Amino acid sequence: MDAIASLGFTPAVGDLDFSPQQRSLLSLAHTLGETKFAPRAAQWDREAIFPTANYDDLRASGLLALCVPQADGGGGADYATYMMVAAEIARFCGTTALTWNMHICSTMWTGVLADGIPMTDAQREEHHRRRALHFRRVVKEGAIYAQPFSEGSAAAAGRAPFGTTARKVEGGWRVNGRKIFASLSGAADYYGILCTEDKGDEKPDPRDTLYIAVPAGSEGFSISGEWDPLGMRGTVSRNLSFEDVFVADDEQLMPRGVYYKGAQTWPAMFFTLAPTYLGLANAAYDFTVRYLRGEWPGEPPVKRRMYPTKQVAVAQMRIQLENLKSIFVRAIREAGPNPSKDQRMRLYAAQYTVMEGANDIARLAVRTCGGQGMMRHLPLERIYRDSRCGSLMLPWTAELVLDRMGREALYEPGERDD
Ligand SMILES: Cc1cc2nc3c(=O)[nH]c(=O)nc-3n(C[C@H](O)[C@H](O)[C@H](O)COP(=O)(O)OP(=O)(O)OC[C@H]3O[C@@H](n4cnc5c(N)ncnc54)[C@H](O)[C@@H]3O)c2cc1C
Repeated sequence: MDAIASLGFTPAVGDLDFSPQQRSLLSLAHTLGETKFAPRAAQWDREAIFPTANYDDLRASGLLALCVPQADGGGGADYATYMMVAAEIARFCGTTALTWNMHICSTMWTGVLADGIPMTDAQREEHHRRRALHFRRVVKEGAIYAQPFSEGSAAAAGRAPFGTTARKVEGGWRVNGRKIFASLSGAADYYGILCTEDKGDEKPDPRDTLYIAVPAGSEGFSISGEWDPLGMRGTVSRNLSFEDVFVADDEQLMPRGVYYKGAQTWPAMFFTLAPTYLGLANAAYDFTVRYLRGEWPGEPPVKRRMYPTKQVAVAQMRIQLENLKSIFVRAIREAGPNPSKDQRMRLYAAQYTVMEGANDIARLAVRTCGGQGMMRHLPLERIYRDSRCGSLMLPWTAELVLDRMGREALYEPGERDD
């Protein structure tokens, strides 16, 4: 109770027993969201442009370095804390939360997650030396990192090696290939790509996946393609091309072979897109309550809350929102290396529940608020469009989660039908 009383609002993850650090970060995210991000959100969406002004605010408030370890000058936030803060930001601007996730993962995967991945002493030493360079860029220079993995093949779904390749040369790597849907295109200073080590004539193998940062100004690197999607328009997720791009050894974000082990060890690393959609679900619910109470600024004071159908719809939305929050909070609290099968299944279920549930809550919000509520000067129609994108995000799209859960429920490792 005290935690909530001192916050002055109920966070998107609900009313929990927060640590002092979490309380102060949630308060910061809420204030930034309410005063800065919400008023600007329509502009990024309308023009399909990157939220640069929001990134200036994130940088000034230390949030670009949130997951950089404190020893390296960052905020030292753990996985659960990041997930709570991201949901709070998404409540006010989905685009900002989703792109911030790509940036944050570049520091969280190399930071707190990498600490839980088995490495040899030599790999650990190499990793600590190299990640210090990346952390320094974020902390001292306010650098932004993108996370372009998708290629339009089965690779980002985890079912094939990445087609983008890196060949070892003196002092670094030569990168060749193409990425699609690269959020932060043109805005990022570094593009943290996944690619396959090209070992000559050997068969490409996902175990040879490399995680490397390509500096934006590199020769042979280019950005192309239109960007005019249904939702999440400010992410500016265009195509990247790499033609014999030279990348120095120190740009490696993880030592050779470690990314593959990380993906096996820490499956919750793929759950980090979910807080954006939990935030959007909260936004749809918050809007509906304020709208039906006649409290939305600038709207005629027509109250609709006396109709039983409205009350039932709001109750249904709240029930669904509580389900989303409960499974989300449980999943982030138990996230860690080597989850049990039960925890892994719950993680998949949490991803599915949040990604599909957010759009369902937004759908109910549109139906309940009615025609006047979906006009473009109000945020609801944008929330509705943005919320539709969650189920499409690889590697855990709604379809692929169903696929994994069904298979892993019915087959134990190594079992097959002859
Ligand atoms: C707003 C937005 C921002 C994005 N930002 C990024 C980013 O920053 N970085 C990044 O790497 N990606 C990003 N993506 C890409 C995203 O993760 C997906 O890669 C992209 O949406 C894939 O597009 P697709 O539907 O054409 O994929 P397809 O590969 O054609 O898949 C279509 C559907 O088929 C199913 N499917 C795919 N593979 C399999 C399989 N092997 N078996 C069974 N079913 C399968 C999945 O359900 C998938 O949704 C972004 C996408 C959006 C919409």
